[in-house]
Amino acid sequence: MPVLDRQHMPRQDPEKRRKNFEEVALGYSGEQAKKEASRCIQCKKPACIAGCPVEINIPAFIKCIDEDDMEGAVKELKSMNALPAICGRVCPQESQCEAVCVLGKKGEPVAIGRLERYTADWELGTKPIPEEKPEPTGKRVAVVGSGPASLTTAAELAKLGHSVTIFEALHKAGGVLVYGIPEFRLPKSIVLNEVKYVERLGVSIQYNSVVGKLDTLDELLEEFNAVFLGTGAGLPRFMDIDGENLSGVYSANEFLTRVNLMKAYQFPDYDTPIKRGQRVVVVGGGNVAMDSARCAVRLGAEEVTIIYRRGEEEMPARNEEIENAKEEGIKFKILSNPTRILGDESNWVKHIECLNMELCEPDESGRCRPEPKLGTEHLIDVDVVVIAIGTSPNPLIPMTSKGLKTTKWGTIVADENGITSKNGVFAGGDVVTGSATVISAMGAGKIAAKAINNFLNN
Ligand SMILES: Cc1cc2nc3c(=O)[nH]c(=O)nc-3n(C[C@H](O)[C@H](O)[C@H](O)COP(=O)(O)OP(=O)(O)OC[C@H]3O[C@@H](n4cnc5c(N)ncnc54)[C@H](O)[C@@H]3O)c2cc1C
Ligand code: SF4
Repeated sequence: MPVLDRQHMPRQDPEKRRKNFEEVALGYSGEQAKKEASRCIQCKKPACIAGCPVEINIPAFIKCIDEDDMEGAVKELKSMNALPAICGRVCPQESQCEAVCVLGKKGEPVAIGRLERYTADWELGTKPIPEEKPEPTGKRVAVVGSGPASLTTAAELAKLGHSVTIFEALHKAGGVLVYGIPEFRLPKSIVLNEVKYVERLGVSIQYNSVVGKLDTLDELLEEFNAVFLGTGAGLPRFMDIDGENLSGVYSANEFLTRVNLMKAYQFPDYDTPIKRGQRVVVVGGGNVAMDSARCAVRLGAEEVTIIYRRGEEEMPARNEEIENAKEEGIKFKILSNPTRILGDESNWVKHIECLNMELCEPDESGRCRPEPKLGTEHLIDVDVVVIAIGTSPNPLIPMTSKGLKTTKWGTIVADENGITSKNGVFAGGDVVTGSATVISAMGAGKIAAKAINNFLNN
């Protein structure tokens, strides 16, 4: 068995990073990457590949790093994954490829995600490796949205020679990668660079194009041979309690969009309207809650508290992000659930009332159901409340087109190949599954691209 310990990822000091939006994780040096790559034992039946939704040949790209063949490592990665610098930063590797790495049985798994990031960043520092241009097929595909599902579908179809146009509602491409995930976890320049790669493959992007408002789905189908819907799940959910419409109460979507896309993080160069509270409460326990809380710290809040109704064990956020949040001084108030939000005479939020919870027996989903502890209501003083309890898809496209089936949660019905109920229309990513992960959206994009290609060839 390899003797080396897993290489530690250098990170910005918590005291320093609390005051800036620069990237927290600093990436491996060449020496660290080689040491980490040498830990991989090149299994004959690599479990790690099966753990990766886009089936990257993990041992092959790691071997290239070990043998100083960085160009080979980039080619190997990019043959399966159009967005490696993004995945290397935000994928939950600990519950996917790294969770099944054999080294994890007795010690720590190979740091596959960090090596992926190292490889993608290496290419960033060099001239991009040119792509082979396929023969054009003459078929045209419209891709709606430009998040990871759409970018992957578009890249795969372009590699097959189809002409692909992305329609994006916003003025930037990347979906949640640009408007949701903050700069200190995923720099905008990294996303932009991978979007440029997709464009270099021949994909064109039309910005400020809200499908369902400008063109309907049916109009797109008149112009294109097939349509892929990767419109995500960007509609915020609320708790349905009193006071949610007070000033100073944000959905995480709005809060993060103001910080990221509207550049509140570049204050004072950009004077984006956003309330900079001294006492901020974030409700929720996922990555979105961690990102909101960590943005609030960086915007200058004195006290930031995450309120979560289950225990820390049950938090859906990545462990790394929970650890980062704690290091940055964010408080965790677990087993606590808001019951109402109270305002002052000008309707600005002033207090949030919470109730203590306890965990009961696990339910059918295997998760412990939180039950309220009656009579434990108490008030917390707040200036800003951010609600990060989940999202659902925007109903605009199903509402403005005929024959597109949706579920009662508003997600688009699609089979395991991304085929919807409407002929020529495919869908994948959060719009089908509800909010999930970047890599699962990419996996769905790859599968849908295959189905679209079959459809176009038949
Ligand atoms: C704050 C936050 C942090 C997260 N952190 C992580 C993480 O660390 N790791 C991880 O794996 N996942 C994370 N996720 C989840 C992950 O980002 C999503 O699962 C993923 O982005 C879904 O990809 P998608 O392509 O399906 O949709 P999206 O990324 O949501 O992209 C959808 C795109 O479609 C566009 N669109 C919508 N409607 C229309 C329309 N009618 N016309 C044209 N365009 C339209 C939107 O503007 C958007 O650009 C996070 C999510 C959030 C919100
Ligand atoms: S399972 Fe782990 S050790 Fe085996 S090939 Fe994959 S990364 Fe290497």
